[in-house]
Amino acid sequence: MFYGFSGKILRIDLTNKKVTFEKKDELFYRKYYGGACLAAYYLLKELPKGIDPFSENNLLIFSTSPITGVNCPGTALHNVVTKSPLTNSIGESTTPGFFGPEIKKAGFDAIIIKGKAKEPSYIYIKDSKIEIRNASNIWGKLTSEAYDILINNKDTKNSRIALIGPAGENLVRYSSIVNDNLFISSRCGVGAVMGSKNLKAVCVSGTGDIKAYDNNKLDSLSKYFRKNYLTNPLNKSQYGPASNAGYLKSMSDQGMVSAKNFHTSTFSGAENIDGFAITEKYNPENVNCNNCYGGCKKILKGTEKIGANNRFGLIELESLAASVYNLLIDDLDAAVKIWNIICDYGLDGTSLGIVLSYAIECFENNLINKNDTGNIELKWGDHESIIKIIKKIIYRKDIGNILAEGVKKASEEIKDSSEYAMHVKGLEIPLHEPRVKQMLGLGYAVSPIGPYYTVVEHDTDFDFSASQLFMDKVSPLTVYERLNAENLDYKKVRMFYLLQPAFSMLDALCGCIFAFSPVRFFNFGHLVEIVNATTGWESSLFEIWKLGEKRINMYRLFAAREGIDIEADILPPRLFKPIEEGPKKGVIINKEEFIKARKLYYKLAGWDEKGIPAYQKLLELGLLEFI
Ligand code: SF4
Repeated sequence: MFYGFSGKILRIDLTNKKVTFEKKDELFYRKYYGGACLAAYYLLKELPKGIDPFSENNLLIFSTSPITGVNCPGTALHNVVTKSPLTNSIGESTTPGFFGPEIKKAGFDAIIIKGKAKEPSYIYIKDSKIEIRNASNIWGKLTSEAYDILINNKDTKNSRIALIGPAGENLVRYSSIVNDNLFISSRCGVGAVMGSKNLKAVCVSGTGDIKAYDNNKLDSLSKYFRKNYLTNPLNKSQYGPASNAGYLKSMSDQGMVSAKNFHTSTFSGAENIDGFAITEKYNPENVNCNNCYGGCKKILKGTEKIGANNRFGLIELESLAASVYNLLIDDLDAAVKIWNIICDYGLDGTSLGIVLSYAIECFENNLINKNDTGNIELKWGDHESIIKIIKKIIYRKDIGNILAEGVKKASEEIKDSSEYAMHVKGLEIPLHEPRVKQMLGLGYAVSPIGPYYTVVEHDTDFDFSASQLFMDKVSPLTVYERLNAENLDYKKVRMFYLLQPAFSMLDALCGCIFAFSPVRFFNFGHLVEIVNATTGWESSLFEIWKLGEKRINMYRLFAAREGIDIEADILPPRLFKPIEEGPKKGVIINKEEFIKARKLYYKLAGWDEKGIPAYQKLLELGLLEFI
């Protein structure tokens, strides 16, 4: 008997309607800890090199870690992992809520889905009863409509439900999966892969317990969190009415969030659409994830007055920055409506925003015109025309058919437009400005799954004006020295090398970045205590930091075999030019310094000159079998 896991993986082949159960021993779980590394193991072992992400042989994996669902805050997450249709590398979306814990209650550590159903289908899981059911009554429906139909069905009324919307059905490459209306697996096109399998929904309910080794210890850690977590300034502001969307205006004032497709890093209209402005009008109520008190999600009240469904909660910071602020939209109700569309149609708000700003630049520069857009004039800040284009993307009409492919592929279709395509490896870049957070910029470039804002804790948390609390929290990683955020010298590369696995281990363990260090209430030591209280193992910060490193290297190996290496580890040319306006006008990433930093990082990471994990590193991490 081992704790934290059931030892059982559910495998579903939609082509043959075949359901099997796979068992793994404790050593397998100790080595990979479930979660992201378990998923990477199957993708490396079973996906033929070069397969189309929309091929029926691609795997769509919902995986959990030992700590998923235990009685402790910050443990409500699961990973969705697949070969991404945007990057052709591994795509991952780590998601809070209740869906992951429910997979564990049903008795599984992961669900691995392969094949393609002959007709629109959904998967029904109730403990060990697994069925592939016809979904023709919910195919084509919005996520809210499909959810209501399923939740009112006697079989699925107690299920946790992961759903795609029309965007995923139409294979918009940056489609999301919406869990229980409120929790979104947004990035890397995981919803498009689900759509390619003719799979509308996965409904899970379980009656089992999640067995932990020491429930008393978990209980005391949970009580400790509950009593004290609001002493952490970031947890406190996230618990407050505006959640992380409340940072937008201050980030804009400091020039830290890009706008107008990375031309500027400030926008005077930010205060009109900031989380505080939205919540002042729509009076939110806090919602917690499974066994947590963080209160990060907010349900707005009164949005039906503007025709928006209130079930999707307050717009998340990343989507607000990309799909509203970036487009210079300063209309609060338009922000709420755009978020409603993102959730109801199942899109990734970050990629969508970058695609739209790319399209506006193409229009401004006469690379596309009204003949392409269906007579729509595309302009910064014009939310009505922008909403019309979003609908065209979802249904692949007119220019929407090209924009649905993401900016990389679109820029290969629309002549001379590549300078407007803000992506790395095909994944659209989040709006946290990498020129003023240059360690983050390096992370955007070298991340094997493409740029995401949690690739590393941001530079500004460790610069000269940062809280001493944050410096203290990263000291166990031997990061002691404050460094200038707008710098990428050798000291910054060392900081990146040490901090990157600290976020990666959270992704690997399905730990919530809003609960744990580098800068949140729970320290690294608490994370180790939670892992040990759950599993009964004697783990350590060393072991889980190495787990973070393992995840990066497994993903990197997958990328390398797809031909993705140093050539793709580069930022778009615009980011090597100065910021054009605002308080950070003139700030630039020096390209030579970046190239030097990348080379040094490869050396520290144990990778060869092309950025491929070297034999010694794979030996050290126990990954030689994947060469
Ligand atoms: S900290 Fe927030 S997002 Fe994370 S698990 Fe808790 S409530 Fe959910």
